[in-house]
Amino acid sequence: MTVPAPRPASDPGSDPAGPPVDPVVGARVPELFAAAEAARANAHVPYSHFPVGAAVLTGAGMIYAGANVENAAYPQGWCAEASAIAAMVSAGERRIEAVLTIADGDEVPTCCGGCRQKIREFADPSTPILACGPHGLRVTFSLAELLPHSFGPSNLGVGEPT
Ligand SMILES: [Zn+2]
Repeated sequence: MTVPAPRPASDPGSDPAGPPVDPVVGARVPELFAAAEAARANAHVPYSHFPVGAAVLTGAGMIYAGANVENAAYPQGWCAEASAIAAMVSAGERRIEAVLTIADGDEVPTCCGGCRQKIREFADPSTPILACGPHGLRVTFSLAELLPHSFGPSNLGVGEPT
């Protein structure tokens, strides 16, 4: 299968409404997209039939991906972003520089509320969240746009992730 590469978010015209993405992050978007799409292909979604893939770029420059995992006991399932974050943490990393998600459908596939908070634990308000469809980038958000006035580690006197 050929995975179409998204236009980097830093390309003029690709997302005039979104915030600018650091060129270093923008250069990794094709890799993030490919990792998220590969994970999406393995999503366990026998109930919703709505596969989602996610990939995180870490502070060390690594990429970890994950898919949504549903369960016959519905509340026990979890999101693709949670899978990717779990892979990152399991590898010993704690800093998210960017998140990319892929899902199909007419609506822009933004992260659910719970995942916005999960991302916040390891990211800061300016961290880019790239919402993609199977054919490429649709909209770039900052975490602050998706989760304004967020509650994070600093609220409990813990330093932000580095
Ligand atoms: Zn979620």
